[in-house]
Amino acid sequence: MLCYSTRNKKKTVTFKEAVIKGLAEDGGLYLPIKFPKFDPGYFSSLDAKSFREMSFEIAEQYLSDEVSTIELESIIDDSINFPAPVKHLHENFFSLELFHGPTLAFKDFGARFMARLLGHFIKDTNRELNILVATSGDTGSAVASGFYNVEGINVHVLYPKGRVSEFQEMQLTTYGGNIHALEVEGSFDDCQKLVKAAFSDNELTSRLNISSANSINIARLLPQSFYYVNAFKEFAGNKEPLIFSVPSGNLGNLTAGVIAKKMGLPVKSFISATNRNDVFTEYIDTGKFVPRASVKTLSNAMDVGDPSNFERLHSIYGNKRLMAEDILSFTFSDEETLSTIKEIYNNTGYIIDPHGAVGYLAANKNADPSVNYVVLETAHYSKFHQTVEKALNIKCEIPDRLKSCLGKEKQSTVIQPAFNELKSLLLN
Ligand SMILES: *Cc1c(COP(=O)(O)O)cnc(C)c1O
Repeated sequence: MLCYSTRNKKKTVTFKEAVIKGLAEDGGLYLPIKFPKFDPGYFSSLDAKSFREMSFEIAEQYLSDEVSTIELESIIDDSINFPAPVKHLHENFFSLELFHGPTLAFKDFGARFMARLLGHFIKDTNRELNILVATSGDTGSAVASGFYNVEGINVHVLYPKGRVSEFQEMQLTTYGGNIHALEVEGSFDDCQKLVKAAFSDNELTSRLNISSANSINIARLLPQSFYYVNAFKEFAGNKEPLIFSVPSGNLGNLTAGVIAKKMGLPVKSFISATNRNDVFTEYIDTGKFVPRASVKTLSNAMDVGDPSNFERLHSIYGNKRLMAEDILSFTFSDEETLSTIKEIYNNTGYIIDPHGAVGYLAANKNADPSVNYVVLETAHYSKFHQTVEKALNIKCEIPDRLKSCLGKEKQSTVIQPAFNELKSLLLN
């Protein structure tokens, strides 16, 4: 399937090129030139299919001309290898649990799929690929875990020394092998600047094959559409329409849902739930898109002031009126987030994380008794145990897979936020 740049529809590249490049040369994001359409019968007969089979059938529509059936099956087997169950909360409210992967957040789906697809695409180049990623915590751990042991790829994770949580740091620094943790004596912005400088350094880019594992990569987006389709399976035969409520930051998850709908998934609409970083909510309300600096909240993975996937949504819908027919959006404060974590726990015994809580608030605001609401629970609550413990006054249990890095040896290299240091390290 060819992909186009959101800034120039006429400029198309192969899916392979889109995955390797990440960002188009004109600064646009890649989107497939069309969304394959499944007929309604497909979605009402999903019952007999496993999550993997169904994911394969979707992926095949985009990749069959560039990846062999056997290869694609193995990529799916290695990446869609943990469940995404739908749990009933109460009445017409459900939680789609996307945290059963190795780093306990939905980003595992995208990172694992992308790592394996990229590994496949570079196989015949005979040149090692160096992935550079700057992280404030979560993206880095999903990428490190996803790319661990993928042949032909080295990952360099840059994180701000002393500014990520203890767990996050352990997740970044205990893999070893092809994962290299670089502890930068500076801020997240410094890490990002170093990565940008590397991409624009001619000597480095000519001597090394470098790429990014940024969340804007089309290979991270595509697999996220699989779990929307899989979740629909739970509601097949149900007459009530379905609305997904998506805790939103960079709008990747929301865009993946929209793509599933464009493929024919019978969803009534989406709700984009935002915290105080409500640039997108404001756009849906007013038609004006005004990016600004982000503010810190309890649902910190959604603290995004200039959501990059807006450009994709805009390209898919063309205008605000059509977008607002499919997408509602509401914004909530930290106080509301805390009291909702408590309310859900008291009423149902379910512990929801701060991001899911914002999603639940938005679904509850729309509350129509004739609709089934599916809230995307984007991370396991234990990743945000301090907030949850504060809201509930209980001690959270930490799951074994989060604890698995405990006691392993930390391996990292401390560098100054100076490009020359990074450069010589990469060249050696
Ligand atoms: C990344 C992330 C989000 C935001 O998702 P986007 O695709 O950027 O909108 C929400 N919740 C959690 C836990 C995340 O890690």
